[in-house]
Amino acid sequence: MGKDDDFFPYPFGPSRTIGRLRRCGRLRLSAAIVQPPLARSIRLSTVIKLDRLPALISPRGILRRIAQLGSVGALALLLSIHPFLLAPASQLAQTVDGPPFGLPFDTPPGPSTWLMVQPYGNTIGAFFRRKTTYAAGQGLHFGVDLSARCGTPIVAIGDGIVAKVDALEHGSRPHNLMIDHPNGYASFYGHLLERPNLAVGQTVRRGEVVAQVGDPDETCTSRPHLHLEIRNAGAYNRAFNPVPLIEADWDTLALTGGFSRGFARDLSDPRRWQRMQDQPEVRFGGPLLNDYPNPWPPEWRR
Ligand SMILES: [Zn+2]
Repeated sequence: MGKDDDFFPYPFGPSRTIGRLRRCGRLRLSAAIVQPPLARSIRLSTVIKLDRLPALISPRGILRRIAQLGSVGALALLLSIHPFLLAPASQLAQTVDGPPFGLPFDTPPGPSTWLMVQPYGNTIGAFFRRKTTYAAGQGLHFGVDLSARCGTPIVAIGDGIVAKVDALEHGSRPHNLMIDHPNGYASFYGHLLERPNLAVGQTVRRGEVVAQVGDPDETCTSRPHLHLEIRNAGAYNRAFNPVPLIEADWDTLALTGGFSRGFARDLSDPRRWQRMQDQPEVRFGGPLLNDYPNPWPPEWRR
């Protein structure tokens, strides 16, 4: 959890709140009704368990809670939950659903199963190859790399329809797979061991085995991994950061393994694109996003 997870000040939006609710399994409602630093000593908060929320935001639940808290606590509670009451149902429904996709493996991460080795975005590895391997993707690593032994089963990250098998114009040799999802995204699985035994137009279910991990060098010893992208279905000309779209503990995954975990820096704007969550969308064929005149790490030349 980020350092701001133990307290977030009023006002806050319903989508942010629900997202945190889902991640933490509970919600700390806080109302900073006085100015800091006084707020720190007078902070009014109540912790609500996730499974009690529906009862709590019902009219009867609110009345019961007000009776329990007394007048000051009740004021804090009402100030805190009013975004829930005002938010349109459609907005809540979207955010309660959380990220639309799951991970592409049915085993938990670990040294004998799989680990993240390169995140999506402005990675140092992509930066050094921005004019070659990653030029078409604006110089960014436009997928996430998950290291696993050759032959590790890969599962579909969501329900969908097989759109392409071995479409090598999208790269990620020797074999790849594109699945279209009904929400408008497509998932792309690269560096597969074998041509997937699937037909274009075939329906697949989330969690169904669709392919096997391979190695771009086809040795199964140098760097076997799955390169996973999320694109726009149909046109496939944009790539999106998978972090907000795949339900996973990305912060913990980032703590282990990796051949390129750091992000390239533009020393004239050194904080930009330095977090996994803060990586730009790729538009294939667009200009390089990281052709920095003053980069870190520097490009040493002989
Ligand atoms: Zn990759």
